Amino acid sequence: AHLAQIAAAESQVAAFLTVTAERALAAAGQIDARRAAGDPLPPLAGVPMGVKDNLCTEGVATTCASKMLETFVPPYTATAVERAEEAGAVSLGKLNMDEFAMGSSTENSHFQITRNPRDLSRVPGGSSGGAAAAVAAGECAFALGSDTGGSIRQPAAFCGVVGMKPTYGAVSRYGLVAFASSLDQVGPLTRTVRDNALVLNALAGKDSRDATSLDRDWGDFTAQLDGGVKGMRIALPREYFDRGLAPEIAAAIRGAADTFARLGAQVEEVSLPTLEYALPAYYVISSAEASSNLARFDGVKYGYRSPHYSDLDSLYKNTRTEGFGREVKRRILLGSFVLSSGYYDAYYKKAQQVRTLVKGDFDRILRDFDCILSPVAPTTAYKIGEKAADPLQMYLGDVYTVPVNIAGVPALALPCGADSQGLPIGMQLIGRPFGEGDLYRAGQAFE
Ligand code: GLN
Repeated sequence: AHLAQIAAAESQVAAFLTVTAERALAAAGQIDARRAAGDPLPPLAGVPMGVKDNLCTEGVATTCASKMLETFVPPYTATAVERAEEAGAVSLGKLNMDEFAMGSSTENSHFQITRNPRDLSRVPGGSSGGAAAAVAAGECAFALGSDTGGSIRQPAAFCGVVGMKPTYGAVSRYGLVAFASSLDQVGPLTRTVRDNALVLNALAGKDSRDATSLDRDWGDFTAQLDGGVKGMRIALPREYFDRGLAPEIAAAIRGAADTFARLGAQVEEVSLPTLEYALPAYYVISSAEASSNLARFDGVKYGYRSPHYSDLDSLYKNTRTEGFGREVKRRILLGSFVLSSGYYDAYYKKAQQVRTLVKGDFDRILRDFDCILSPVAPTTAYKIGEKAADPLQMYLGDVYTVPVNIAGVPALALPCGADSQGLPIGMQLIGRPFGEGDLYRAGQAFE
């Protein structure tokens, strides 16, 4: 049924870069055989998933939506994908994204523009725009995305689906093509909160191949789902409602706060003064890490190699000039600049100090509160092309999501209404480290 929906919707939505129908049917057939034999089935048996194209899949192209990796077929599979498959999920293919996950609209893909299924003239958000669009269009039951500064939550909000950025270290990054290693996390995009908890059950856990993955017992994220929010303490940071937030979104978030209060939660306004510094710190830190991570794409080891070269230097230079898109080059330049001697102290070191302050703000608030309620993005989905020529405008859209990655805490994005044009509005619940269960419980109570 999902393959049929892909066939019907893709000419409009264009969420997939690769559809692996044959593999999917073979995998589904195996699950059917297990069922017929009376074997016990795993929790996601036969559930169709889509995978963002920066998660490696053995034998299936993994392009990061870049010309640089257009022909790259990995010899191994990312742990997150492997775990979902071990839990029975069936991959239908690979999903479009901003090149190397840099962007907020999926317009930075080298290959195609993905359209928002809720309004085809608008962007699906990004960088996991293909993932959110595919789930919203019913092309897969869930998708795996990655979130470095909002790339799961913001497209989820734009497309009206549910997205979780887990605690840093909850899900293995092995096989996720690195953007900014200290911020990147893999997480699920789903139609409902319950689905999200079910998928994260399969993903979370220690992986010996990712030293930053955490060794802890995550339990069952669905266990507390129906516990309600009675007595839960929810913080509403006043700075999140300052300048730039669309009034309809502010109203929807305040409406959600009222709903939580009605359901028995204690909602209080708080101050998160470092909010305005988080965005510049994010763009310094993430670009610095990206400039280092993307040094490996040199035309020697992987992917694209320019045919125009006369020596090793011109091989590197022309490969990178031709293989990377504009936004990726912008980040590499910015990252190399802030790391260079003479500027390091003023930018990179300063950004790391800001990171500590932001983390301190969250620690302080989350000592007294179970979670923080905020908008996901300052606007709903905008028109294709509207912001594509103005990178700074695009970066400003990340103001509410990046502090969460800077602090390493989990955050759940879920729909909380629609604007006057009928476009989905998303809200964000930010939790304590390892507080995913609380976020799901609150999300479920609201949903
Ligand atoms: N939009 C942000 C950026 O461009 C976040 C991207 C992400 O989370 N991968 O960096």
